Amino acid sequence: MTTGKVDWGKLAEEGELASAVTNLSVNQNSKSPETNGVDGNETDKTPTAAEESLLRKLLHKSLVDSTQELEIQRKNPHSPLYSVKSFEELKLQKKLLRGVYDMGFIKPSKIQEMALPTLLADPPGNMIAQSQSGTGKTAAFVLAMLSRVDTTKPYPQVLCLSPTYELAIQTGEVAAKMSKHCPEIKIKYAVRGEEMARGEKITEHIIIGTPGKALDWSLKFRFFDLNKITVFVLDEADVMIATQGHQDQCIRIHKMLPKTCQIMFFSATYEKAVMDFAEIIVDSPMIIRLLKEEECLDNIKQFYVNCQDMDEKYDAITTIYTNLTGQAIIFCQTRRTASWLADKMINEGFTVAVLSGDMTVADRITVLDDFKEGRVTVLVTTNVLARGIDVDQVSLVVNFDLPIDQQRKADHETYLHRIGRTGRFGKKGIAINLIDSPQAMEICRDMERHFGKKIELLDIGCRDLKAVIRQ
Ligand code: ADP
Repeated sequence: MTTGKVDWGKLAEEGELASAVTNLSVNQNSKSPETNGVDGNETDKTPTAAEESLLRKLLHKSLVDSTQELEIQRKNPHSPLYSVKSFEELKLQKKLLRGVYDMGFIKPSKIQEMALPTLLADPPGNMIAQSQSGTGKTAAFVLAMLSRVDTTKPYPQVLCLSPTYELAIQTGEVAAKMSKHCPEIKIKYAVRGEEMARGEKITEHIIIGTPGKALDWSLKFRFFDLNKITVFVLDEADVMIATQGHQDQCIRIHKMLPKTCQIMFFSATYEKAVMDFAEIIVDSPMIIRLLKEEECLDNIKQFYVNCQDMDEKYDAITTIYTNLTGQAIIFCQTRRTASWLADKMINEGFTVAVLSGDMTVADRITVLDDFKEGRVTVLVTTNVLARGIDVDQVSLVVNFDLPIDQQRKADHETYLHRIGRTGRFGKKGIAINLIDSPQAMEICRDMERHFGKKIELLDIGCRDLKAVIRQ
């Protein structure tokens, strides 16, 4: 790492080289002593934003170049890059550790290994972390949230916001599981459908919810005091920041938090503009980024099937269904196609469920529960389910239509999110794309180029289809 006086000219020169691609990039905001020379040697002018960014790039490069140094940093408990290889090293409360082990976790995932030491440090560090869905982010911030609660204080100290009702509930479920040996930790959902009487005060320690409801409950109804929040988590921060309404609500909430509140932003994708914005509002964050998203696709085999028209696509789906052993999600581009497909399959005696954005929240939850608990093996849906939802046993994702954006161009991010529903946490998964036009084929090729991963032709009539989709 750079120490002492900073030579901006030299940095500029070397900065040119700093574009090396890496798996893992970790950097500490430039306010750390190592980077701004708080050690007393630094007498230069204050670096400009461009210089700072250069320095960050260089820091990044030096970490990338020197795996050995990175390893040393990771082992040094005083380094911002300190990382752990076991949950024991985190010195969690025994009851929480038991909860973690009861969930079947043996060792921390990459993102957990890097994030948890900072999240649990004393004093705690702020963080902006980005990694592909299914890599263990939720488990990481939930563990940090649970560890920070002081159960002798009967009021909310942790506020965790998600963009949707379903994600908030899912996070709550993870928190409930992880804290099953700590019944004294109480959690309250701030989501649609949860009501409180005027004048009432929330006594639970953790609030998990959506931004609108949290804002109403704090600023409008004063059910809890934002000034007493010590941990603020923004899940799917990229979506929150990119969605105007959510962004405004989060900013208003953020403004009311005490200066000492620990802020954690977690996100599955990296959008420069969004991350730049995050860096403005999160003070001195540790930034963790798992790059090379395509690597995360290594355990997902991708195929395409040639079809003439919708009827052949339908036939392909039924063939796949008949050969299926695990659970599958079928993604359609529109609600109309999703309900057409589900109706047709149900009429022909297949057991499928449909989940789309126009359903009521209660219906959506019922469908998801049926699917998660295995009562339904095939779920037909739209992009509403592309993000975040964690269903462990999905082995197959079918793109009935490939995802496209408003310009009808390949929507890489949605594709990644969709097929990321399978192959979670290093398990093997299969993705099948149904292609019924030259345009669809072009999109498929585009996905192949973008992620640098082969999408192979699958002969749906082949005798060993079962073997292929079971592998
Ligand atoms: P993300 O929030 O990045 O999408 P999750 O935290 O939901 O990821 O984790 C994805 C899946 O992996 C979940 O089923 C979760 O229970 C499991 N998981 C998370 N951390 C671990 C771990 N350390 N060991 C084993 N499984 C884990």
